[in-house]
Amino acid sequence: MNSQDCIALDEKYGANNYHPLPVVISWAEGCRVRDPEGKLYYDFLSAYSAVNQGHRHPRILKAVRDQLDSVTLTSRAFHNDRMGLFLKKLCEFTGFEMALPMNTGAEAVETALKAARRWGVEVKGVENGKQEIICVDGNFHGRTLAVISMSSDPDSTVNYGPYIPGFRRVPYADAKAMEKAITPNTVAVVIEPIQGEAGVLVPPEGYLKAVRGMCTRNKVLFVCDEIQTGFCRTGKRFAWEHEEARPDIMCLGKALGGGIMPISAIVADKEVMGVFTPGTHGSTFGGNPLASAIGIAALEVLEDEKLDEKAEWLGGIFRKELGKMQCAKMREVRGKGLLNAVVFEAGFEAWNACIALLKAGLLAKQTHGNIIRFAPPLVISEKELQEAIGIIKGVFERIG
Ligand SMILES: *Cc1c(COP(=O)(O)O)cnc(C)c1O
Repeated sequence: MNSQDCIALDEKYGANNYHPLPVVISWAEGCRVRDPEGKLYYDFLSAYSAVNQGHRHPRILKAVRDQLDSVTLTSRAFHNDRMGLFLKKLCEFTGFEMALPMNTGAEAVETALKAARRWGVEVKGVENGKQEIICVDGNFHGRTLAVISMSSDPDSTVNYGPYIPGFRRVPYADAKAMEKAITPNTVAVVIEPIQGEAGVLVPPEGYLKAVRGMCTRNKVLFVCDEIQTGFCRTGKRFAWEHEEARPDIMCLGKALGGGIMPISAIVADKEVMGVFTPGTHGSTFGGNPLASAIGIAALEVLEDEKLDEKAEWLGGIFRKELGKMQCAKMREVRGKGLLNAVVFEAGFEAWNACIALLKAGLLAKQTHGNIIRFAPPLVISEKELQEAIGIIKGVFERIG
């Protein structure tokens, strides 16, 4: 099938809940993808950072193939011989005591919200039904009903009421406003350490530490959604490490699945994770043996290839080179590690720039009307990155 036929099928049979760039990917390896016509592109979205290890990493593919020969799914009604090893590896990688495996990112966030509400009653002593959770403007935590009830984005929430109560929203990157919103019933605050979907918004230095401090002072759980920022993307294993602001619960997903399948989890210490008892939470597919084998390999690749250091190094090159660009409509290049964005003047139609990039052989997607995110797989080489920067410069300098 050619690209046109594929797109026609998607449009005829698929719900219209996405607006993808008009490109079809039928093959991928590392940081490159190819369309059915054979045109090669750099992938600078990495499936929203789910492909940090690169497309079809050989080590992760081997783990899949090996696991397919023994067992793939058991449900949690029985033990399997992979899950414990996966959770041990995940705890060692993150520095937390316990993990709870789910599938999608939104489920990890739901799990964190449930853990926090329960902890609020059973450990903090809040009356059940009175628990409050503080979230921030511009957040993106997924698409389920509880999760969109935190959202300030009208597209995410339109006509989906009634929304889940118990959330209070405050401005992002404003520690004072957050502390003011804390009441005796507050059980948690939930933030992304860098807001990805909001346009790679990096909070001012000190914000994460301030949030950590106020949570400790007020006996409130600090929940950090590292689904997009985690697993080496920002130059550290997790973005909170930039300020040593260790959360109480981390939400993980995306790159935990190594670009193969949805794998998510929360990690926390025993004091928090201990609130879960048999029957109170679960998932048929969470912790399945295939996912566990993949998760282990995904973490090993991040570790052995030192992708945190690599993201830090290459991200510096990326921001320095793009910062030198001659483009009158460009306002800012921002980000950490290999999670970056170029911000154009207000009213700029970034969609058209993405189409021009696509034609020049590089895939990137705008986040808001005037912002383009650049997040290649972390396995990209310096030479490949320089070539990609050349493509971006060529397109942007033509824009003006
Ligand atoms: C992608 C994302 C999610 C949701 O993950 P899904 O797997 O799409 O449910 C949650 N939080 C953040 C920060 C994300 O980037």
